[in-house]
Amino acid sequence: MKFTETRGNDGVKPAAVSFSQAILSPMSSFGGIYAPEEIPRFDDDFLAEHLDKDYLALARDILATFQVDLPDDLVEAALDTYQSFDDPDNPVPVVRVGERLHVSELYHGPTRAFKDMALQPFGVILSGLAQARGEHYLIMAATSGDTGPAALDTFRNKPNIKVACLYPDGGTSDVQRLQMVTEDADNLKVIGIHGNFDDAQAALKRLLGSEVFRATLVEKHTQLSAANSVNFGRIIFQLIYHIHSYLELVRQGQISLGDKVYLVVPSGNFGNALGGYYAWQMGLPVEKIVIASNANNVLTDLIHTGAYDLRQRQLIGTSSPAMDILKSSNVERVLFHLFGAERTRELMRQLDEEQHYQLSSDELQALRSLFCADFCNDAEGKAYIKDYFERGYLMDPHTATCMKAHASCCNQPLSAIVYSTAEWTKFSPTIANALTGENDSHDIDALKTIAKLAHTPIPARIGELFDKPVTQKTLVDKEDIEKEVLAFL
Ligand SMILES: *Cc1c(COP(=O)(O)O)cnc(C)c1O
Repeated sequence: MKFTETRGNDGVKPAAVSFSQAILSPMSSFGGIYAPEEIPRFDDDFLAEHLDKDYLALARDILATFQVDLPDDLVEAALDTYQSFDDPDNPVPVVRVGERLHVSELYHGPTRAFKDMALQPFGVILSGLAQARGEHYLIMAATSGDTGPAALDTFRNKPNIKVACLYPDGGTSDVQRLQMVTEDADNLKVIGIHGNFDDAQAALKRLLGSEVFRATLVEKHTQLSAANSVNFGRIIFQLIYHIHSYLELVRQGQISLGDKVYLVVPSGNFGNALGGYYAWQMGLPVEKIVIASNANNVLTDLIHTGAYDLRQRQLIGTSSPAMDILKSSNVERVLFHLFGAERTRELMRQLDEEQHYQLSSDELQALRSLFCADFCNDAEGKAYIKDYFERGYLMDPHTATCMKAHASCCNQPLSAIVYSTAEWTKFSPTIANALTGENDSHDIDALKTIAKLAHTPIPARIGELFDKPVTQKTLVDKEDIEKEVLAFL
């Protein structure tokens, strides 16, 4: 299977590439990205056949359906990373939390957030491809919290890969910062900057445009790649767990094979929701994909009105920071599959140049036949956290945004799968505040508060962070980032 360009071809770049090429150079013509030329459908008995097979067998067969051009041993090594999850036989547990309401927990990997689902296998694949080609890659990341730890963890000591990760000092939770600054592998560099996440991102952009930086990369025979969800190599691993979660409901006797379900997804860059869309188009019985947002509700507006409009918007800092996003990169792939490359190029050009686009009424109807959306502010989110805790389920603030969208969108008597994207340990101050009304100033206090209330231990992987030596001590002004990264290279 080939992967093609979402904004059409500029006559210079290849119009269609293999899976491995799409991973190594994720950007296509006119600032577009890569998407499968055609979404493969699985056979009628695919789901039934997988009822008594495990997660790895499902993953192998999905990769085969997309005809990925990777050697078998590399695929096996990539899937082997799920061994580091809490339960290697079932990396994604699905639990019932209410009437026809189930939570699929995507956070049981090493860094306790859903980014591990894709980044763990992705790291093995990128490093494997780089070694096979004798190439060296630099992954640059600016993180507000979850991508940084997950990217560092997956690339730790991986041959032919270096990672430089920028984070805003004071802009992440203590746990997220400690997960990064206690990394001690030689191929990882973590740089705290005085400023906020926007400053970190702007600094990253400036660096990528710098001549000196470019020259240094050439001199070091190093290429740049991206580990964010514009890379299809991440999306493919975010499709498997949607199918797995459905099969789990059948195995548990909650639904019958063939019943439709709602997929309720806490969304930022839309990678998780896009995985659900692909799973559906491949043949998974889905009624609607429900897009949950926080106060940065640009996707809610898009799905309600067909307008993607950034002109009056400022990014709002919320207690679900991994969803504080205004330009949601993976919407582009849905536009491409629904409306084609030419229209996608026009819409994305309008968004880039004029900060808005408007879908036609036919286009909006097509979008609304697939998606429903709602958003939830921080106070509402905290109320859901408290409410579900009292009924026996502890959830993080990102997961909590799903509960309002579930109530407003899931109006058919069908089961719903809500995706939980972070463990309670990663956003403990918000959760402790939701449960007690008090403010703990440090994560460690909030963790203890919650552990006590929930009669659950602080997981070892989180607790021991507070005793680990800090090895990444670089903390600089924005202007000095380039110097730091060059010194690292
Ligand atoms: C990244 C992230 C999200 C958003 O996922 P997208 O695929 O970008 O839509 C939601 N919750 C958490 C905790 C995350 O880390």
